[in-house]
Amino acid sequence: MHPEQTRQMIDSTLQAMGERLDAYGELARRFGPLLREQAALSEQFTRDDVHLPAIDEKRLADGVPLLDTADCAALAGQLAASAGRLLPLLAPLLRMDGEAGDALRAYLNDPAHLSGLAQARIKGDWKHFENTSVQLGDIPSESLLYISENVFAPAFRAMVGRLGNSLTRAAGEHSRCPVCGSAPTIAYLSARETTEVDHLVGGGGKKHLHCSLCGHDWKVRRNVCPSCGNDKNETRETFTVDGRPQERIEACHACKSYILCIDLRECLEPPDLDAVQMGLIHLDLHARSQGFSPMTRTLWNTLDA
Ligand SMILES: [Zn+2]
Ligand SMILES: [Zn+2]
Repeated sequence: MHPEQTRQMIDSTLQAMGERLDAYGELARRFGPLLREQAALSEQFTRDDVHLPAIDEKRLADGVPLLDTADCAALAGQLAASAGRLLPLLAPLLRMDGEAGDALRAYLNDPAHLSGLAQARIKGDWKHFENTSVQLGDIPSESLLYISENVFAPAFRAMVGRLGNSLTRAAGEHSRCPVCGSAPTIAYLSARETTEVDHLVGGGGKKHLHCSLCGHDWKVRRNVCPSCGNDKNETRETFTVDGRPQERIEACHACKSYILCIDLRECLEPPDLDAVQMGLIHLDLHARSQGFSPMTRTLWNTLDA
């Protein structure tokens, strides 16, 4: 997708959210500037020729994330630019003004610290986040992780954008992102396709998982729980609410987890898959009230009613 389309999709998704519910409109106003700035950075890094890791198709097919062996120091320039532009937007969202904000800015001003956190995020080295959070004093490690992910996302997304189809060809079906190893935050069923030859509209409905860190989407089998691999129809369930069949909860009784899924065949306009999660909190609350836990914890699906 062209990067400019991403910004348009963010705007239309946020607008639709606000029209649905005042509380979602408020979230859209607070978080919209962050999402737009991330999209702008990602556009810039795509143009600037961001560093690309080599693709080893065999390792990818075996489920080893592409960035597993990448050296994040190669992204130092982009990470620093991203931190400079996003920290002023992130700090107030986390009510991190004053000393805590200053300490964090000073720490992230060192490129080695930034790439160290990026490396730790890819490796799932949560201890590094805990230790850094202790070192910084007043900043909880969840906040540090949230800020870091938001700062890293534009550079990772530019990388995914430039790798394009070579990724799709190489990756197999995995429950973790083949690029960065993150768990997916949302699923979707692909839109119908129009063929240029005869303008026939059909097909679609292929299930994909979406990574909110690097923005990569990958195809998986439709009738399988992405968390535990359960493929028995009797122990998997789909819920919808408010007569909106395009937004569903896909829950699994075997592992008690769920993931939200957007059916793009039913959407007049495809939503931005990261922005849209903010406007689906009612689905998360419903799933959790039924005893299910989100497959991946996000800022949105862990809120209390
Ligand atoms: Zn990813
Ligand atoms: Zn399951």
